[in-house]
Amino acid sequence: SMATNKLNRSNSEALYEKAKNYFPGGVNSPVRAFKSVEGSPLFIKKGDGAIIWDEDDNEFIDFCGSWGPLILGHNHPKVYAGIVAALQNGASFGAPTRLENELAELILSRNPFIDKIRFTSSGTEAVMSAIRLARGYTGRNKIVKFEGCYHGHSDSLLVKAGSGLVTFGNTSSAGVPEAFANETLVLPLNDSEALKSCFEQFGKEIACVIIEPIPANNGLLLQELSFLKELREICTQNGALLFFDEVISGFRVAFSGAAEYYGIAPDLVTYGKIIGGGLPVGAYGAKKEIMACVAPDGPVYQAGTLSGNPVAMAAGLAQLTELSKPSFYEDQERRTKLFTDKINSHAKAKGYVFELVTIGSIFWISFDNSKHIHAAEEINPDMTNFKHLHRALLEEGLYMGPSGYEVGFISAVHTDELLLKAAQLFINALDRIMS
Ligand code: PMP
Repeated sequence: SMATNKLNRSNSEALYEKAKNYFPGGVNSPVRAFKSVEGSPLFIKKGDGAIIWDEDDNEFIDFCGSWGPLILGHNHPKVYAGIVAALQNGASFGAPTRLENELAELILSRNPFIDKIRFTSSGTEAVMSAIRLARGYTGRNKIVKFEGCYHGHSDSLLVKAGSGLVTFGNTSSAGVPEAFANETLVLPLNDSEALKSCFEQFGKEIACVIIEPIPANNGLLLQELSFLKELREICTQNGALLFFDEVISGFRVAFSGAAEYYGIAPDLVTYGKIIGGGLPVGAYGAKKEIMACVAPDGPVYQAGTLSGNPVAMAAGLAQLTELSKPSFYEDQERRTKLFTDKINSHAKAKGYVFELVTIGSIFWISFDNSKHIHAAEEINPDMTNFKHLHRALLEEGLYMGPSGYEVGFISAVHTDELLLKAAQLFINALDRIMS
């Protein structure tokens, strides 16, 4: 039964009606349109700490965190101060600044996997550039990706699996030429047989294998460590680069991301989200000999008018400085468990087919039977429960991203007290939709 505290959305609805005249679907990024949940999108007016307010002055505990960047919450005083100080000197120069050095130094001095880095303005751009680098460095064209991993919207990566163990990818967007998709091989996650047979057939043509080491864009599809190790080995044996797309996991599960968390050294890494402190930044990095191929040192071209933007660098620097303090990640994980354990034990006691799957400070709402889901095709495609839950959560005052395939994020300002309160509100919502 859907007993309710109905949410007043009248201002958001009016803004959405206007926005539809300006933007496709009324939005500047598709998932924001609330197409897979109930009701129209909430227009957000303001955020502070772990709380956001919409245009109707509804208040929510925010678990979206701008889809991951806000690991210190909204308007963290240090990040805010960094942004303001940089801005006082001007917003952009298109020339090198000291702040780029400082952010690079903070990252590289703590990251054993990469020697050099290049800043971009989004995750998509970082991945697109690093794919070009993998191809330029190896002189090979084919890339391998996994079904259910999202790597931004560049042409080579907007590809999903057809049927069969090894498939030439079919494009998942109109406008992507088949010729591009044909260079992208798509494999199921966590499937060692498929991986081997792909390399038997195409081993010497593969420039790189790209994976979200913690796949978090299509449910949270945690991989077995043995699979990730095998991936490392098979790439090395075949002269292909192992490419960890850490746009979500970087600075999230550990300072040096999933590579550090699992202890596996990738050849290429991309970052985004957290690295920019809420401003638009992405980055790619690798060892010296690979990065030597990037222009102006080498033949692989890549550039950006706003790359290394000083205001964004300042935001990233302030944020990463906080993350580099002792036990930051241990405490993130501890508080996340406080939240998820309380909800999971309630759900278990009630016998619900439901679980919050979690790693680090990431969680995913799963209505799947199996506890150990590693691949996209294992996810229950029926999102009815999620739709109802999403609405009930909003009504209880909890804001989650509007898709059952997306994960939630916990920030440093989600305190024990706030998380225990949020867990109770979550339980209220869950009970309303399950009973
Ligand atoms: N790679 C991964 C793993 C991502 O999660 C995302 C964004 N969710 C991207 C790439 C693309 O980043 P952006 O949206 O900043 O272009």
